[in-house]
Amino acid sequence: MDFDLFVIGGGSAGVRCARISAGYGKRVGVAEERFWGGTCVNVGCVPKKLLVQAGEYGAWAEDAVGFGWQIKKGPHDWAKLIAAKDKEINRLNGIYKRLLDNAGAKIFEARATFIDPHTLDVGGQRVTAEHIVIATGGHPVRLPIPGAELGIISDDAFYLPRMPERVAILGSGYIAIEFAGIFAALGAHVDLVYRQPLPLRGFDMDLRESLVEALGAQGIALHPGSRPVKIEARGDEKVLTFGEGHKLHTDLVFFATGRTPATRGLGLDKIGVATNDVGAVVVDHQLRTSQPHIYAMGDVTDRLNLTPVAIAEGHALADTLFGHNPRGISLRNVPTAVFSTPPIATCGLTEEQAAEHGPVDVYVSKFTPMRHALSGRARRSMLKLVVDQASQKVVGAHMLGEDAPEIMQGLAIAMVMGATKADFDRTIGIHPTAAEEFVTLRTRTRVAGVAKAAE
Ligand SMILES: Cc1cc2nc3c(=O)[nH]c(=O)nc-3n(C[C@H](O)[C@H](O)[C@H](O)COP(=O)(O)OP(=O)(O)OC[C@H]3O[C@@H](n4cnc5c(N)ncnc54)[C@H](O)[C@@H]3O)c2cc1C
Repeated sequence: MDFDLFVIGGGSAGVRCARISAGYGKRVGVAEERFWGGTCVNVGCVPKKLLVQAGEYGAWAEDAVGFGWQIKKGPHDWAKLIAAKDKEINRLNGIYKRLLDNAGAKIFEARATFIDPHTLDVGGQRVTAEHIVIATGGHPVRLPIPGAELGIISDDAFYLPRMPERVAILGSGYIAIEFAGIFAALGAHVDLVYRQPLPLRGFDMDLRESLVEALGAQGIALHPGSRPVKIEARGDEKVLTFGEGHKLHTDLVFFATGRTPATRGLGLDKIGVATNDVGAVVVDHQLRTSQPHIYAMGDVTDRLNLTPVAIAEGHALADTLFGHNPRGISLRNVPTAVFSTPPIATCGLTEEQAAEHGPVDVYVSKFTPMRHALSGRARRSMLKLVVDQASQKVVGAHMLGEDAPEIMQGLAIAMVMGATKADFDRTIGIHPTAAEEFVTLRTRTRVAGVAKAAE
């Protein structure tokens, strides 16, 4: 065999797995067909957060007036922002490649596909490996409607030559919400078009309702319960037709309508690696596919599609295979954020999920952050704890408000350790902060899940 391990995909999961395995002195090969660092670094978390931050500066310039600053906000230069973003992404690409090189992995800048269970075609070259990891990530998908090719996907949004004046975003998952906030903060009129009654399906109901308020306060036009059926181009304009017959005129249609695992054309069918009905590779808790020497991790398995999860899986597999440290990772209490304006962060169960297991005490606090007492901006924060009544453990923490992701990371440690409401209560707050609300929630807002428990 040419390699002890061959990794297909140089994204968050693949780079970590290849680098740690090579560090254990193994012969490791890794193939990347598009960009080192994968989705997160190139067309995901990192450039997205830079664009969110660009929008924040504009809002801060407006807010500063309430604090006595005589600032006049000028126009925003989109081309300058994208050039600065590209420079930073190029720098990160280089770092990822160097990490692999320095660890001693052999790098292939090519597409890899299976020839047989131990042999790959890598850019026309045959390579064999004892163990193979599929870490190919996923792709954004458009709705299958006439004129879909007239719309863009998230990959394109990072390279738009100019900022559109009007954008219609289709979808209400986290990518749709984040880009709605970005475009609105940079001055565009944004229409957010989605099928559900509320955005962010799967998130806690109080968060979803608070988000609707926040999107409205940002001037984003919401179109819940809407089903687009066609896109047409009329000159520079795009016309979106809905199932109900009415039309929406815009400059840019943005499909934020989900992602699909990148398994097509890999040759998985001919080597007996099972995929599910959406094309995701099926794995067990040790990331093994239906072929015991072939593993899959990260977004291609379509379980919890987050960079830190992909990285943790890559590291755990390298330790298990070559580090004499067999281990898995837990997908319980994984904190996550939506970089909306203001951001959302969450850890553990929603109230609705927790209530299915029995009665829960729910604590909710809504308030105007101190900063906005002076800025005059209409912005409210919401934070919430869900506590299992029987064990008194905090099983869910949710927040919409400035710095929510920074705050939630610390709370996640407490939750992973099994903190109870009493542990939160005996923790002294930091004053004056929004975070202190999490340790001063004394009055229960409601009890949920009682009826279910009594059944
Ligand atoms: C717009 C956006 C924003 C996001 N924001 C966040 C965020 O804020 N926080 C967060 O945690 N997550 C975020 N994510 C999700 C995060 O990017 C993914 O969970 C993460 O990148 C998954 O890592 P991965 O290694 O599984 O896949 P990827 O990073 O997608 O890497 C897969 C790599 O494999 C390569 N590849 C595919 N097929 C082949 C082949 N046959 N041969 C060779 N190479 C191949 C691809 O080119 C790609 O580089 C975001 C995603 C998007 C799209």
